[in-house]
Parts: sequence; structure tokens; C-alpha cells
Amino acid sequence: MIYLDHAASAPLLLQARRAMDTYYDQWYACANPNAFHHAGKCAARDLEQARSTLGNTLQKVSKLATSRLHPKELIFTRGGTESIHLALMGLAHGMRAKNPKRNTVIISELEHHAVSELSALLAKDGFEIKILKVTDSLTVDLNHLKTLLTENNVAVVSVMYAHNEIGVIEPIQAVGKMAHEHGALMHTDAVQAFCHLPLDLTQVDAASFAAHKLGGPRGMGLMYLRRATPCQPIMVGGGQEHGLRSGTQDVAGALGFAAAAQFMADHLEVHTEYLLSLRTHLLTELRRATISVPELCAVPTLADIDQQTSSNLTVNPGLTHLVLGGKVFDQIVMKLDEAGIAASSGSACTSTARTQHHQPSIVSSIMQARIPRAERYPLRISAGHASSKADMDALVRALVEIARSGRASSGSLRR
Ligand code: PLP
Repeated sequence: MIYLDHAASAPLLLQARRAMDTYYDQWYACANPNAFHHAGKCAARDLEQARSTLGNTLQKVSKLATSRLHPKELIFTRGGTESIHLALMGLAHGMRAKNPKRNTVIISELEHHAVSELSALLAKDGFEIKILKVTDSLTVDLNHLKTLLTENNVAVVSVMYAHNEIGVIEPIQAVGKMAHEHGALMHTDAVQAFCHLPLDLTQVDAASFAAHKLGGPRGMGLMYLRRATPCQPIMVGGGQEHGLRSGTQDVAGALGFAAAAQFMADHLEVHTEYLLSLRTHLLTELRRATISVPELCAVPTLADIDQQTSSNLTVNPGLTHLVLGGKVFDQIVMKLDEAGIAASSGSACTSTARTQHHQPSIVSSIMQARIPRAERYPLRISAGHASSKADMDALVRALVEIARSGRASSGSLRR
């Protein structure tokens, strides 16, 4: 199988696997890290080691100023969705408890379902939800944000760092600065960005990360919470994770997460260059194939993403969102799957929900409105450390073949 769906979940890195195996080999691996006995204390020490490695890694890839992140600023969760719930609900309730007037939550119209569906829950809790529009370049509209913030009644603004379907990197510092100028808190869903891009979290109060998007184990998440930021727990129980996330921690998972993040951060620049070279190769080959795949465009445009360098990133380097034109590309993900290539048409997390409710993703809806063609089919190609030029060549060959055989079977070789 050729795996081009890293944005859905990346293969477990050897470094992560080794870190987890090493932990499971320890005599104390059975212990609860919150237990009083010696075995528990050894497990707790390893958990704190993982937290410290993740703190150092986060500082390395972001512009966080503090000399050393305080352990209380990093909270382990079970995945990205849970980190987002804790951050957004925790901040919203924490702010409102301090000042009941701050009863509004702003999210962008491009957020992952983990944020957009959560806003419906926040609305049930009495929060007013305001949706921040995006511009034609699919970045958030800062003028619109200004108008949404004018009443100084906003508790928290949440904008995704890098988009999971189109890869666009949002102006998080500018959004955070505006939020702070109006007394609001700033959260970012950085699940697709952590250890994939250099981050700037200088204007961010809380950020959400997930291990499985960067080669760590599934089901491990992390929340960064700037010190002294008001945040209420959303789960009660044993009071683990500094009282913010009750429940016994997964020490092996935390160590695997830390090892994967450290490896990715240590190789961030070279990895970025590699992914950019793969994308350039893909686009070159797609252009070469335009005789057979004539109506191919990308959002942002092919020209936009082709001009990226590692110091000038506006789109996640591993992710290429193509919009294929022509009926032959209907069911493209299924057709590629039959050809042994795993890719996707958007977010894997929402594909079941979409099938059940027959709903296109918000991104697809925006694309459909923006690209004036009757037959458009999105295809998300997300590459990772194990991807190669040969994978890109195989993808292009498969697309050409799908286009050729589709047209042949519809009886029209000419469009
Ligand atoms: N946010 C973004 C941008 C994502 O891409 C995903 C997963 O696809 C999530 C949140 C949810 O993360 P998890 O699946 O770890 O709960």
C-alpha cells in the first residue's frame, strides 16, 4: 500500500515504539503513576520525563519565551479532541467565572469538527457563538474579527493553526494579539501543526496537540496552558494533571509521544525541505500529465503552493489539497484505494459523520462555491517521513489511469 494519508494518522515512528517498549520492559511498568509506593513513583518519574521532553520540544519549535516551561503548563489528554474540549470549554468557563460579561466564544468557519461541534455544546451552556469568516485566501478575516471583538464580551477566540484538509496556515499571532487587546483569551488547535511547522505561540494562551499526527501513538494528546490562564476542568475525579484532567495517565503513551515529537523537532528543517521537494515533484508530474488530467487545480492554487520555501510557509508542507475536475474523478478516494493508494477527500474524523448525514465538509462547501465548475472532487494528499518520489509517481500514474479508463468507459475519449 502507498500511504498518503498522514494527516489522518501518521505511522508510528521507530523512536516512539522503542520508547514505549523500553518502558513496558521496566519492573514498575504495571504501576499507577499516582500511587504512593516506589513502583508508582518510578512510573511518575518517567511521566514527568516525558512531560519535560515535550516541554523542551515545544519550546524548540515555537517562540515561547519562558526559559523553561513549567510542568503545570503541559497537560496530558487522550488525544487531540479531548485537548480541544479541555482548552476551549475550560477557558470559556474559566473566563466567564471571572467576569460573567465575557459570555461569547469566537471560532473560525474552517475549524475541525472537534471545535465546531463543541461550540454547539458551549451554546447549550449559555455561551453566544460567533463565527469568524475567512477571506478568499482561506485565512481568517482580521477585519471581521475586529468587529466581533468590539463589545469586549468575548471569553475566548479559537482558530486552527494549520488546516487539516487544505493545509493553510492561519495568522495566529495577529489573531491572538487582537484577542488580547480586547481582553479575550486565545486558543489554537495546533494538532496538524505541532512538529510539522515552526510555531509562534507568543500570543496563545492554550494550544492543543495530538501524538498520532506526528508519528506518536494514537490516543495521546497534550494541552499547552500558559501559566495563570483561567481554565476549569471538564472532567472530575482523582484530580490528576494538576487538577485539570482526572484519570490515570498512560506513561508509555506519554513517552512514545515525547520521543516522536523530539525526533520530529530535531529534524524539522530537513523534513520540511524533503516534503516540499516531494510536493514540487508531485506538482511537476501532475502538470506533465495534464494531457490526461486536464482540469486539475489546487486550493490554494498550484502556483501559490509551488512557491513555498521552508522559511516562507503558508501551507503545511506535507499536505496538498487538489480539486480534480471531471466526472471521472467521482469516488476518487475509492478508486485510488483499489489502486493500492490510501489518500482521502478530507478529514477522516468526519467522513463517517458526513456519510451518515450526507453532508459535505465545510471546506468542500467553500470550495464548491469558489470554483465555478459543475464536477469538482477534492483529494487530500498528505505525505510524511516515509513517503517517496516513487509514491508520488504512482499516484500520478493512478490518476492518469483513472481519467483514461473513466473516459473510455463513458464512451467519450475526448472531453
Ligand atoms: N484537530 C485537527 C485539526 C485534526 O486534524 C484532528 C484529527 O484529525 C483533530 C483535531 C482530532 O484529533 P484526535 O483524532 O487526536 O482526537
